[in-house]
Amino acid sequence: MKIILRSEAKAHGLKRYFSGKPCKHGHVAERFTLSYQCVECNREFGQAWDKANLDKVRERSRESARRLREANPEDAKERNRVAYEKRMAVLREQTLEAERATGLRGMKARKAYIESFGDFPDRRRLSSR
Ligand SMILES: [Zn+2]
Repeated sequence: MKIILRSEAKAHGLKRYFSGKPCKHGHVAERFTLSYQCVECNREFGQAWDKANLDKVRERSRESARRLREANPEDAKERNRVAYEKRMAVLREQTLEAERATGLRGMKARKAYIESFGDFPDRRRLSSR
């Protein structure tokens, strides 16, 4: 990575600079022009915070999903419809697989399949077949 002094970064309005020297935690990474903070340390701190504040993180993500929905309800409907169809397709595939494997029908087949195999194979694999 190219060395960019903090003074240069500041003069050009860049958010980050790079000294090439390790931070006190040994990261050789860019630093924020405003705070001098190492980008890598900042990321780790952020992850630790998220882990310690899972409920706040979930609340924020619900909140931002709600704002997105409200800003564009038609898109949200379309995304829901696509997701629903995907789930239904997976469900159909799983049920067919369960019926093949158990010789039973519908929910009985699904139940028996899960009892003998633990669960259905990976959903992504199933839905991409
Ligand atoms: Zn660091």
